[in-house]
Amino acid sequence: MTTHVPVLTSATLEYLRPERGGLFVDCTVGLGGHSRALLESGATRIIGIDRDPQALEMARATLAPWADRVELVHADYRAIDEVLDSRGIQLVDGTLADLGVSSLQFDTPGRGFSFQRDERLDMRMDPTSGESAADLVARSSERDLADAIYAYGEERFSRRIARAIVAARREQPIETTGRLAAIVRRVLPRHGHMRIDPATRTFQALRIWVNGELEGLDRFLETAARRLRAGARLVLITFHSLEDRIVKHTLRRLDRGDERQVSVLTKKPVVPGDEEIQRNPRARSAKLRAAERIN
Ligand code: SAH
Repeated sequence: MTTHVPVLTSATLEYLRPERGGLFVDCTVGLGGHSRALLESGATRIIGIDRDPQALEMARATLAPWADRVELVHADYRAIDEVLDSRGIQLVDGTLADLGVSSLQFDTPGRGFSFQRDERLDMRMDPTSGESAADLVARSSERDLADAIYAYGEERFSRRIARAIVAARREQPIETTGRLAAIVRRVLPRHGHMRIDPATRTFQALRIWVNGELEGLDRFLETAARRLRAGARLVLITFHSLEDRIVKHTLRRLDRGDERQVSVLTKKPVVPGDEEIQRNPRARSAKLRAAERIN
């Protein structure tokens, strides 16, 4: 069975202070690791959101001992207003979003996130809706492919890769992770000193694009902040610089001016120590930022 070790758990608990009790929203409940820690530390009630039905099943198992205090919701966290409104909830005592993909999604065969296996190129966190990576690769213009690979993968050779994709799909649709990885590797031969597979950045870009990971993140943060009780806190964990940049700038903006909403608690992001990174490779690029609702 896939296990998912929650990242930066002690900092998460330190900022969210569940020992004071109250209602917490876990916007990315995943396999339930963070929620479980919140419950064990005193949270009275949890609303756990995830867009991945498979994750919710795992969370249900993890959180079974607290079933009467947990509600799991299949939704996009960007719909947090609707989730709370439909339950008659105005304000909450703390909110967590641990962004990105889970090890369940990455490691479960058939989800199509990884080029470590050859499988259908899917990459949807919510396989019940939207277009798969194969669909996007099949219908996007060379220009859009290049732009996405550049913007979301920070890949210098995006134009070359997009050109190769368009040439290859003319011969045969690109339907598997293995074929896409091979196309990228052919244009970007691996050099001896290269630490990572040359396909990594292109796969990251497609994943972010397929799942619209950066779209509406700023608005989500504003909404989540507005739904906090005075003194309640918002904790965000990000896994790449594009995401972290949005979180950093949005929190700073909410911490300014006449209509100041929050006070940012983390001047610099909290990052894992060497020991945590060794135990849990997923923690490697994690950054945690926290803010407290004022007035
Ligand atoms: N904190 C969790 C792991 C979260 S991994 C734990 O301790 O187990 C990130 C999760 O966020 C994934 O399950 C993914 O499906 C979910 N996710 C990512 N973007 C989302 C979105 N926009 N709306 C809802 N869930 C999302």
